Amino acid sequence: MPTYTGRFAPSPTGLLHAGSLVAALASWLDARAHGGTWLVRIEDVDTPRCIPGASTLILQQLAACCLVPDAPPVAQSTRGALYQQALDALVHTRWAYPCACSRKDIEAACTAHGQPRQRHAELVYPGTCRAGLQGRPARAWRMRTDAFKRNSPPALEIPAQAATNKIADTNLTWHDRRLGLQQQNLATEVGDFVLRRADGLWAYQLAVVVDDAAQGISHVVRGQDLADNTPRQIHLQQALGLPTPQYLHTPLVCGPNGEKLSKQNGAQALDLDAPLAALQAAAQVLGLPTVGSSCADALAAWVGGWRALYNPTL
Ligand code: GLU
Repeated sequence: MPTYTGRFAPSPTGLLHAGSLVAALASWLDARAHGGTWLVRIEDVDTPRCIPGASTLILQQLAACCLVPDAPPVAQSTRGALYQQALDALVHTRWAYPCACSRKDIEAACTAHGQPRQRHAELVYPGTCRAGLQGRPARAWRMRTDAFKRNSPPALEIPAQAATNKIADTNLTWHDRRLGLQQQNLATEVGDFVLRRADGLWAYQLAVVVDDAAQGISHVVRGQDLADNTPRQIHLQQALGLPTPQYLHTPLVCGPNGEKLSKQNGAQALDLDAPLAALQAAAQVLGLPTVGSSCADALAAWVGGWRALYNPTL
């Protein structure tokens, strides 16, 4: 029987709030409904944005809600060697390449190509450095998203698994367990995306794919604001010869201004004195009833409801 491993992956750029608790609760319930393992991974690759002590406090907040991981949490800041290995494999198979472009260069190239293409105010990288750096110093590393075929042999010996891996198209469709069939054309909607930033930090996309595979994550349950990242992650999994987990993106909690509640727009940290009320509010967002006289009672009661709503299958 296949085994289930799920995870909650907070970034310690602030404390848990009503929105992030929904993702934590949903990933815990899905793991329990499958009789699986639930892990917590501290996503602290963006070190300048991390707040000292936040990861300890997040684990305390989770524990106050009786959400306790089945193994000690791992932190991404300790896993740079694994990310480097993955980048090396992608460079060897020519999926990844160094990029010398500054934001200004990208803007100028987009304008020269006609209409600047934008996505969430981000320019779609026009692929300038795919053909080489033209003598300019490398700043970042990018992942190709065009339907590129490796015509020439790779420059270096490459792992057999990656060598046999062929990707015909980067117009991806995937199934989300809550949102249904999803589609995104990576080449036209996203463009070649960053794997390692100009400041040397690892990009979220690469770190999350490497860690989900290394930790044997079979099911990803996380907030809907991250759904848009899924095709980039599937693309990386395919290029690295890694399995694709099942995905479920949970509803978002909106603040009084109608925007998604986030650390950036001042979401209140969870009140450790009232964990049951916080859990009940999160459960309500997931379509579960207000039950329980303690966190443990409530969690046990919701597992059946979760199963009925999201029909876990392995
Ligand atoms: N670290 C991400 C966040 O806090 C979540 C990443 C994920 O679940 O894939 O938004």
